[in-house]
Amino acid sequence: KGPSRHGYQPCQLCFQELASCCRSLAAHPQQEVALLDRSPGCPLSSGCNVENAVYPLGNCAERAAIQKAISEGHKDFKAIVISSNLQDDFISPCGACRQVMREFGTDWAVYMTKPDGTYVVKSVQELLPASFGPDDLQKIQ
Ligand SMILES: [Zn+2]
Repeated sequence: KGPSRHGYQPCQLCFQELASCCRSLAAHPQQEVALLDRSPGCPLSSGCNVENAVYPLGNCAERAAIQKAISEGHKDFKAIVISSNLQDDFISPCGACRQVMREFGTDWAVYMTKPDGTYVVKSVQELLPASFGPDDLQKIQ
């Protein structure tokens, strides 16, 4: 626990919200996330896995939360907290979710938690180095 290695420092209010999200989400059996926006008051979105009997049509909690936030007018994210019922490992976002996170910048924080409330935090840049993003589209002739 503590400040992230890449220098991201959540404000005290955000940190309390993140910690409380970690605790509450960890009590749930599914993978769930909380997403913090940079705008005043630290709006918070959340999401859970959306399973489907046709497996490929399901959606990860990370993307559910991001899509929900976008639909509510937020896109300037500063942190996402991911939790699951994995006891011995910090839950890590899949490659598809990393790419979706990257669409909204490379310098925001991804908190990967365990049910006991401990976590590791990395930036989107650290999770998806040498990435392709919206800026790169402009370079294509
Ligand atoms: Zn995913």
